[in-house]
Amino acid sequence: MLKESLLLPENAVYDHVIPAGDYWIHRIGAGQVFRLVDLEGNQAVDTLFYDAVDPDNRYSANDTVLNQGALYLTTGTELVSTRGDVLATIVADTCGRHDTLGGACSRESNTMRYSLDRGHMHACRDSFIRGLQSYGHGLDKRDIACNINFFMNVPVTPEGGLSFEDGVSAPGRYVELRAERGILCLISNCPQLNNPCNAYNPTPARVLIWAGRTRPAPEMLPHLIRG
Ligand SMILES: [Zn+2]
Repeated sequence: MLKESLLLPENAVYDHVIPAGDYWIHRIGAGQVFRLVDLEGNQAVDTLFYDAVDPDNRYSANDTVLNQGALYLTTGTELVSTRGDVLATIVADTCGRHDTLGGACSRESNTMRYSLDRGHMHACRDSFIRGLQSYGHGLDKRDIACNINFFMNVPVTPEGGLSFEDGVSAPGRYVELRAERGILCLISNCPQLNNPCNAYNPTPARVLIWAGRTRPAPEMLPHLIRG
């Protein structure tokens, strides 16, 4: 469902551009709102989420799809963890559809989908591993699970297959999420050169974070303080 946000970029507490093909890993506090912007259109932003305190409790594509009874992610989708907790909720979306079935590209999929001589080409799985290793805390290859592909169009065919199609996004479209607990967000801004989902042309993505809901200062609540 298309929904615009009222938050203004100039009020963000964090503003960063992830270069085409690069990775990004960042802690996001409970209640903070973060926006991913598809700056040039049709970029696939492969994303994983973890509970920041207990990374074994991580995004589950299966439970998220089951919970909402729908295959694609958009406004209102709750991102459910392997233990059934809601890690984040999509609160605004100007693209309208995001995939969580297609998985991340890898050297192996380069070889299988395209040709043997594409096997060496950089892929999301490499970026995920580099991101986790740069973060430390014991996170590594084993912590890569099924991901979200923001801005990517992977329709399910009537026969039950998956087809990788041209993106439905466009320059400046965004998706915005509210962290429902402290989370770790790992992004591979897909470097894939062989796939129509990012128009064979990886491009940058922007991340904005706004401060969480703040409690009113005590002087604002005299009736509560005096009981
Ligand atoms: Zn990729």
